[in-house]
Amino acid sequence: MALQIKVATAGGSETFVLINTDASHCPLCGRDVHPLRVYALQISSNHLQIAYRCPSSQCMGLFVSYYASVRSTTYEFQGSAPKRATRPDFPGAISETSPTFVEIMGQVAEAEARSLDQLVGIGLRKALEFLVKDYASLLQPEKTTGIRSSTLAQCIENYVTDTNIKQCAKLATWLGNDETHYERKWTTKDVTDLRILVRLCVNWIETSLLTKKYQEDMDGGK
Ligand SMILES: [Zn+2]
Repeated sequence: MALQIKVATAGGSETFVLINTDASHCPLCGRDVHPLRVYALQISSNHLQIAYRCPSSQCMGLFVSYYASVRSTTYEFQGSAPKRATRPDFPGAISETSPTFVEIMGQVAEAEARSLDQLVGIGLRKALEFLVKDYASLLQPEKTTGIRSSTLAQCIENYVTDTNIKQCAKLATWLGNDETHYERKWTTKDVTDLRILVRLCVNWIETSLLTKKYQEDMDGGK
């Protein structure tokens, strides 16, 4: 049911308009809430912006929701901003091995929150390169120079021995290259698949590092 609300107009007066719904989700903290209307401004005959305050005591932030009237006199909710990115959490073994990977993945989350879709794939591809090269360098420190100067594909081929990591990293590299090149080779796959493959690489690399740690800690038995 449409709600009637009082809004300020661009000309400085006030009027009543209909909106289809209030915002029901805070883009800052991610909670489903009943936010408080602070101010509503009719930008033009078909655009309206409402400033809301999040009622959650852990948030209390201000955000703006955008409304548009396309066919009727009722303004329909379009979305809210700013969206705050949730920084992804990675296991200790991963953040110790590749702090740069974690940093880039934080920026990928920021790009996702701002709907910068074209940059997400490029970020994932770059993050993958740091993760794989830092992992390979950790296992073979004497070969670090070669690992760093090789392409990602060469690095996976020549310096990664774990079969699961090798497979997932290779597939992720192919999809990652699609994100940076003009023409796509893998037309049925997209950035969602790349994200899954990067997560698989993270999981396999963590498994490999933890296995190595416990093998070394308990080497020789009791
Ligand atoms: Zn909030």
